[in-house]
Amino acid sequence: MTERYDGVSFEDRMATVQFSVADTAHIVVDGDKCQGCTTKACVSVCPAKLFVPLSSGGVLFNYEQCFECGSCYVVCNEAGAISWSYPEGGKGVVLRHG
Ligand code: SF4
Ligand code: SF4
Repeated sequence: MTERYDGVSFEDRMATVQFSVADTAHIVVDGDKCQGCTTKACVSVCPAKLFVPLSSGGVLFNYEQCFECGSCYVVCNEAGAISWSYPEGGKGVVLRHG
């Protein structure tokens, strides 16, 4: 069943999020480190669904629509697989006030 908040589905609400995409990635994934990862926890935890498992054993990652929640960095237990930083000033997810 689709979760709804104030009558709006999670997917519809997320579709309204705006981004100011930086030229360089603020998250870099080292695919070599992912080869032996059995959990692929990043795939299930990312609310933006930016990690896609590959048949080769690695993962495909795109940084452009990242919510900057940090969940992938927290759940990944393979040291060095994810390099995480905030996007350069003013870039990234656009926060709305009010
Ligand atoms: S980023 Fe971390 S959790 Fe995700 S596949 Fe690679 S090693 Fe596994
Ligand atoms: S910081 Fe959050 S939204 Fe961004 S890639 Fe990681 S889990 Fe996904």
